[in-house]
Amino acid sequence: MNNNNYIIYNKIKWCLGCGNYSIINQLSKILNILKIKKKYIVIVSGIGCSSRLPYYINLKGVHTIHGRAFSIATGIKLSNNKFNVWVITGDGDSFSIGLKHLLHTIRRNININILIFNNGIYALTKGQKSYTYNNNNSFNIISLMLSSGATYVARTLYNNPINLRKILLSANKHIGTSCIEIIQNCPIYNNIKDKIKNILYLKNNSYLIYNNKCIILKKNKPIIKIFNTNLNNIWTHNIYNLYKSFILSNFNKINNRLPIPIGIIYKKKIAKNKKYIKKKYINDIKKLFNKNIIF
Ligand code: SF4
Ligand SMILES: [Mg+2]
Repeated sequence: MNNNNYIIYNKIKWCLGCGNYSIINQLSKILNILKIKKKYIVIVSGIGCSSRLPYYINLKGVHTIHGRAFSIATGIKLSNNKFNVWVITGDGDSFSIGLKHLLHTIRRNININILIFNNGIYALTKGQKSYTYNNNNSFNIISLMLSSGATYVARTLYNNPINLRKILLSANKHIGTSCIEIIQNCPIYNNIKDKIKNILYLKNNSYLIYNNKCIILKKNKPIIKIFNTNLNNIWTHNIYNLYKSFILSNFNKINNRLPIPIGIIYKKKIAKNKKYIKKKYINDIKKLFNKNIIF
């Protein structure tokens, strides 16, 4: 089987070397792995370079308007729960004009996957800095999504296909809104390829160890230590710990020497009884239809 068989290569207009190629490639691969019927997969995008993705993939797709992909995706999911919905958005699209749509979608916890291609700029309009551009007053998007009640938040990298694929698969498995920040390189207007270093890969129930260093928590403050064989005080990642996930999401604000955490940052524990979850979820949809909840 050709794992990339959804991609329409001759239609792609992204610049050579754009990080989006890697993301579309992995998305197409996992949609094949998942074996979801093609007629049920829907790709919904906003506006921006990344949001051109629905044109480049041979699946149902909607290229919507600026910042509104989340709301349109919500409508699509509510119209038929069988739809497997993927929102493709950029940092400019989702964290400026689309911000309130994004946060309310997260709050409602609709069962969709949101892929935020974060290159720190408005690439389509020639590279103006976005609110996520890496400087002292940039938005902390992971922390913002957690504060809005996100039940699944992860960060991955465009140039680590294995991690990217793993995160996409796990996000799709999560019942509820899955939010994934994908750090993406724009070689034309914001080439960050060489700046993506000092990475800490997170694994549930594993120590925070990277590059011969480790992280300990002292009075709720993350501290970098040289790693030795003493494992006693090293922070162990627990994807279900909301409090620690906030600290992880704020690493770059606390101390710029702290690494960039990559992987699942937080996931809300869900009841083991899947039937219950399904029933509860369907009830929530009915409530939405009956307008019994605040929009
Ligand atoms: S401008 Fe940047 S983000 Fe847009 S297609 Fe070109 S490389 Fe990709
Ligand atoms: Mg952007």
